[in-house]
Order: sequence, then structure tokens, then C-alpha cells
Amino acid sequence: MHSSPKKHFTLSTIVCVTMGHDYIITRKVTNHINEYRCSHCGREVAENDKGYLEPLTQKIRNANSSLAVFFQKKCNRVTAA
Ligand SMILES: [Zn+2]
Repeated sequence: MHSSPKKHFTLSTIVCVTMGHDYIITRKVTNHINEYRCSHCGREVAENDKGYLEPLTQKIRNANSSLAVFFQKKCNRVTAA
């Protein structure tokens, strides 16, 4: 499926290109993995298991949801023990 993306450069986009994205944490998945969104352009990324940022696709979002549940269960078990 190919859609032709319209390139319109807003001020936020220029800020991101020149200064880098301004990521804010939108969700803590585990101690080492977070999801972020750029407060300027809205681009969403997440850390993968190697610690690198990658674009947050629906597939990764779903995987992170499972991971977060698993991680919280693990934490609860540790604190309960
Ligand atoms: Zn940005």
C-alpha cells in the first residue's frame, strides 16, 4: 500500500531536524524499555531489547503491552515474596 506523503515542513519539524526530537515518556514498559513521543512532531518511538530507539509500530505497541503486564506480574511476585 503506497500513499504519497505530503511533505509540509512546519516549524516543529524544522526544530526536530535541527535540534533533534524532544521525546517525552508516554509509557514505562519495563525498567529498561519506555515508549516516547516527540512533543514537537508527535513521532513515537520505543526502546527495543538492545536499548536502541525504533519507530513505535502497532506491532511493537502490542508486544510492549504484553511485556508490561508480564513485567508487572514479575515485580509483584518479587515484592510479595
Ligand atoms: Zn520530533
